Formats: sequence, C-alpha cells, structure tokens
Amino acid sequence: RLAIEGLTRRFDGRAVVDGVSMAIEAGQVSCLLGPSGCGKSTTLRLIAGVDWPDAGRIHVDGQPVVDGAARVPPERRGIGLMFQDFALFPHLTVADNVAFGLPRRDPGTAARVRDLLDRVGMTHHAAAYPHQLSGGEQQRVALARALAPRPRILLMDEPFSGLDDRLRDDIRDETLAVLKAEGTAVLLVTHDPAEAMRMADEILLMREGRIVQRGAPYTIYNNPVDLQAAAFFSDLN
Ligand code: ATP
Ligand code: MG
Repeated sequence: RLAIEGLTRRFDGRAVVDGVSMAIEAGQVSCLLGPSGCGKSTTLRLIAGVDWPDAGRIHVDGQPVVDGAARVPPERRGIGLMFQDFALFPHLTVADNVAFGLPRRDPGTAARVRDLLDRVGMTHHAAAYPHQLSGGEQQRVALARALAPRPRILLMDEPFSGLDDRLRDDIRDETLAVLKAEGTAVLLVTHDPAEAMRMADEILLMREGRIVQRGAPYTIYNNPVDLQAAAFFSDLN
C-alpha cells in the first residue's frame, strides 16, 4: 500500500506538485491523469526517491520512506519503475534483463525469470537481445523486469506511448492481467483519458500540481468536477 500526504515540490518558488495526497491499495491501479506540465512525472520522481519534496509524507506498507528526517534511498523503497522508453540493457539478453535486479546465486531467480517470461509471452525470446525485439515485445520485457523483484508498488510513466495504436490496446490488457495476478499496487501516469478509462480502478485528475478530482473512471466521466474536466474527457466516446 502506498500512502501519500501533502506532497509538495517547488521549482523557483512555484509549487509544481502542490499538496498531493493519495492512497493506493495492493492489486489496485490508480491513474494520475492530467495535461502536459501538470506535475505528473515530478510526482512519480518524488515517490521513486530520485527527487525530494519540500513538504509531505510518503509511506509504503506503513513504513515511512519520506517523513520529516526519514529518507529511504530509492533502491530500498520496494518501488519498481517503468518509464516510457523501457530502457532495457542493450548488451543483456531478455532473460538477463529480467534477472538484473535479482540475486544472482539465488536458486529462485531462474524460476522467477521463467515464470515472468511465460506470463508476458516472451519465453521463446529469452535468449534474444533488445534490438531484435519489436516495441511491444520490449514493453513486455520491461514489465517483466520491473516486476521481477516483487515491488510492492509499481510506478509507470506513460509506458504505452511508444507503441502504435493497434498494439497499444492489446498490450494494455495484457499488462493489466499480469499486474492483477501479481497484486502490485500501481500508479500509472498518463495524459490520455482513454488509457485511464481502460486501465484504472481509480482516476486521480491532476491540474497545475493539484488533484482536482478522484474516483472510479465512469463516476468521473459522468460527473466531471468542472467544465475543464468535462472538456478533457469530451474526446472520448
Ligand atoms: P508531461 O505530460 O508533458 O510529461 P508532466 O505532468 O509529467 O507533463 P512534469 O514533468 O511533472 O509534468 O513537469 C511539471 C512542471 O514542472 C513543468 O512546468 C516543468 O517545466 C517543471 N519542472 C519539472 N522538473 C523541473 C526542474 N528540475 N526544474 C525546474 N522546473 C521543473
Ligand atoms: Mg511527464
């Protein structure tokens, strides 16, 4: 479970993230949805621990990772990351990419890698290198790699934006199935309302650093908080 309270980050005196609070339960996908520049990626960076907030608290499964003086480094937060460009290691095979964050001598590692490759449908590509894969295949490997160490929380920043339209729907559904099976708490960033409608258990609508509305996708869609929110969803049908 991820719990955030009053998260604030200022750049040059401007609050880019402005008192953001949220809670994400295990097995739940929350979508941080909002226009370009509203502070989505900055919020993820603060949660991941590659940037520090000016105020606010972050707890993972009840443990403080940012709270006053408590500052747990990124690699000890139990948080996995998956960003837009996948960033697989080009010199490692698919199997070694997935195994990268796992203890090398642990007998469980090989089994975990096999299981994940199976679940993302990449078993027959285990010995391939990233440049030999399509965009969709790279995305599947990146998902397996992010989940390999069993993060309690997975942060995804526009993970499907590099894929073509036809492939994207399939990969979204597959990704959702894998995430639900793992029971990971997911915070997915997108500027695409259709993606949020398709993926989210809960949508957090962000604007100028603040969460302006939160709720189940169809609740927000049917009862937008204001005209701006309505306009944001109006392209959907
Ligand atoms: P997009 O959908 O385009 O990715 P976003 O919602 O992820 O947008 P952020 O990347 O969080 O937006 O940026 C929010 C605002 O904070 C922007 O105005 C950006 O210029 C500003 N910003 C982000 N990082 C810094 C930084 N290190 N220094 C100064 N300003 C920054
Ligand atoms: Mg961004």
